[in-house]
Amino acid sequence: LNNVVIVGGGTAGWMTASYLKAAFGDRIDITLVESGHIGAVGVGEATFSDIRHFFEFLGLKEKDWMPACNATYKLAVRFENWREKGHYFYHPFEQMRSVNGFPLTDWWLKQGPTDRFDKDCFVMASVIDAGLSPRHQDGTLIDQPFDEGADEMQGLTMSEHQGKTQFPYAYQFEAALLAKYLTKYSVERGVKHIVDDVREVSLDDRGWITGVRTGEHGDLTGDLFIDCTGFRGLLLNQALEEPFISYQDTLPNDSAVALQVPMDMERRGILPCTTATAQDAGWIWTIPLTGRVGTGYVYAKDYLSPEEAERTLREFVGPAAADVEANHIRMRIGRSRNSWVKNCVAIGLSSGFVEPLESTGIFFIHHAIEQLVKNFPAADWNSMHRDLYNSAVSHVMDGVREFLVLHYVAAKRNDTQYWRDTKTRKIPDSLAERIEKWKVQLPDSETVYPYYHGLPPYSYMCILLGMGGIELKPSPALALADGGAAQREFEQIRNKTQRLTEVLPKAYDYFTQ
Ligand code: FAD
Repeated sequence: LNNVVIVGGGTAGWMTASYLKAAFGDRIDITLVESGHIGAVGVGEATFSDIRHFFEFLGLKEKDWMPACNATYKLAVRFENWREKGHYFYHPFEQMRSVNGFPLTDWWLKQGPTDRFDKDCFVMASVIDAGLSPRHQDGTLIDQPFDEGADEMQGLTMSEHQGKTQFPYAYQFEAALLAKYLTKYSVERGVKHIVDDVREVSLDDRGWITGVRTGEHGDLTGDLFIDCTGFRGLLLNQALEEPFISYQDTLPNDSAVALQVPMDMERRGILPCTTATAQDAGWIWTIPLTGRVGTGYVYAKDYLSPEEAERTLREFVGPAAADVEANHIRMRIGRSRNSWVKNCVAIGLSSGFVEPLESTGIFFIHHAIEQLVKNFPAADWNSMHRDLYNSAVSHVMDGVREFLVLHYVAAKRNDTQYWRDTKTRKIPDSLAERIEKWKVQLPDSETVYPYYHGLPPYSYMCILLGMGGIELKPSPALALADGGAAQREFEQIRNKTQRLTEVLPKAYDYFTQ
């Protein structure tokens, strides 16, 4: 099979087109059709650190694409006000150290030097607080003993790399500029680009797609059709009637209002992270780019009206947002039962989506593309490829759903009806069981969601320790163990932090110089 039609030119459509071209070159024909008047969702600016494999696979270096997309580094998600107003902590891209077989966080619960687990257990927390770049001015990456081998992992795909190291940062970028950059990349490599509306999807007797009918370019025929039409799911959900499984019973946030706010970033400085600030009925994201800040309030319509959400967001941002138009978005939370049905594969929002609390939307896209390449069909359409693809994609989303639900269950905040309801709402049974285990033993690979979903056990530890609503105890064994080595580890982190904060450049200076 070598004739692929992609419908949709948002982040998902162009990431898919460019990756398939990088993977298969001229041996594949790709046509991408996108509407000239149905816009892309226009958000989606923070990523996971695995995203670097996407750019490496395309052969792109940071200096090639980052300036064109106003991109910055993201070293963590910073959670503000989730425990109580005024409190914050980081979930960084930094593996957890272990001492004598116990994670350092376990030692921290027993004898933490301060009340900030993130500053005591990770180097990155203080680097972020100081607004620093993870690269020295000459471009070299900060040395981290726990990331040894990170360079040798370059060029591998995400699945080859899974869990082997933790790269210390991800990216934040302007979604529209990235789509533009990838359009040029793809078209230069032979992708046929059509701007037109798909009006109809043609099916044969078996219900397989034979073509899509456009307004002005006639029928586009192909072997494999990729649905990147966003929340509409034009091919998969509408034409093939594949059901959508909602997650809303456990994750009620279904709306967002977003602003793109131009700011003097030199004056403001760039905090190298994405911030999620808890609000009365949801949370606000703040993503600093080189020329502006992307921000938005994610909320549940049952608790807050769009007008109130917009008012709160504007107050939060201040006068800089006065002339900026707001983008109100209705979110479809959950996933398609199967993202690959017959000869149609949905990638992006058409496949599934959870609220962007841990920036997983683009990660889902990247993961799905890799799985598609791994399971690319031949003329016999062996259904095993489809099954393998569907289970990998479903596991990733179901696993991330559990992780996000944990944020709300574990948050100590209890001051509005929205937050009180997070403590009584239904949660996935498997998560309820896991939480009971984590109360006596911090998460490890045996007790977190068992299939690959991009989040290692240390991520769960960060959320449990930072949110503060679930009481955690150190392992009883630590009462009998010698804590000297753990104390030395804490001290080593302090020393390293101090050295790094003296030598690393400010994030803003790194990008401008
Ligand atoms: P869209 O951007 O909606 O694109 C759909 C495309 O389909 C458009 O090109 C449109 O023209 C085309 N189309 C639709 N109908 C037709 C038709 N009939 N004919 C032709 N073309 C058609 N992800 C992250 O990783 N990090 C984040 O920080 C993040 N934040 C988010 C915040 C919010 C509020 C939301 C809603 C999402 C966020 N996401 C985030 C997810 C991310 O935005 C999406 O995963 C990503 O943008 C992919 O969108 P898409 O390409 O699937 O759909």
